[in-house]
Amino acid sequence: MIMSNKKPFIAGNWKMSKTIPEAVELVRELNEASSELTEAEIVVIPPFTALNDVKNTLPGSSIQIGAQNFFWEEKGAYTGEISAPMLKDAGCAYVVIGHSERRQYFGETNETVNKKIKASLAHELLPIMCIGESFEEKEKGKTINKIETQITEGFEGLEKKEISQIIIAYEPIWAIGTGLTATPNQAEDVHRFIRNKLAENYGNETGSCAIILYGGSVKPANSYSLLKEEDINGALVGGASLNSESFIEIIKEAIKAYKEK
Ligand code: PEP
Repeated sequence: MIMSNKKPFIAGNWKMSKTIPEAVELVRELNEASSELTEAEIVVIPPFTALNDVKNTLPGSSIQIGAQNFFWEEKGAYTGEISAPMLKDAGCAYVVIGHSERRQYFGETNETVNKKIKASLAHELLPIMCIGESFEEKEKGKTINKIETQITEGFEGLEKKEISQIIIAYEPIWAIGTGLTATPNQAEDVHRFIRNKLAENYGNETGSCAIILYGGSVKPANSYSLLKEEDINGALVGGASLNSESFIEIIKEAIKAYKEK
């Protein structure tokens, strides 16, 4: 699949929220508004239990579906796990890898992130790889160091054509679910670093075409100013994606910002 950052890319991570009927209702409301939102790439990321019903609510829709996690093996005796082919079967085009909550509570590391990226690409599931620094790391001036390590170790052994299929989400941990947002300037500095690093390691085209999302308390009120930054191509939205009105507003603001860049 060829990816492009010509449109803003807005993904809603529902985390461990929404029953199946609630998920279907939310996605139905989004789908009703989708004809006004064609200038954005929209992805919803429901819990596993709702994936199939969400898919069946969106026949022919431009809204795409992602999953929040998976295991890198294809099948077998891995109780409680879900594989990439299973996610494809349930209608997913994307999968989130290495979200900070998975790193914090479920022991994900750069090494497991790397294995998952390889497995997702092998099954044509596009990875949304999350990276970001903690509050302490930010305070100690270690943000760029942390980001560089996460990228280097997460991308270990991957080739240029694989790198160009990866969406990167910069999510400062201190901004996730806290109401604190990186200022557009703070976010842009990190995004620019990521893009330059990709260009340096994998060529200018890989750098300039990369889709780099910002995540961390994105809301209707800050979507425009974040997306106006040159190197911010979209948003990974948690809390504000659980409500159709605020998610639609974020997408509209992103479209407006993108047109004015
Ligand atoms: C997230 O879940 O990736 C996230 C950024 O959450 P929130 O928007 O609620 O901070």
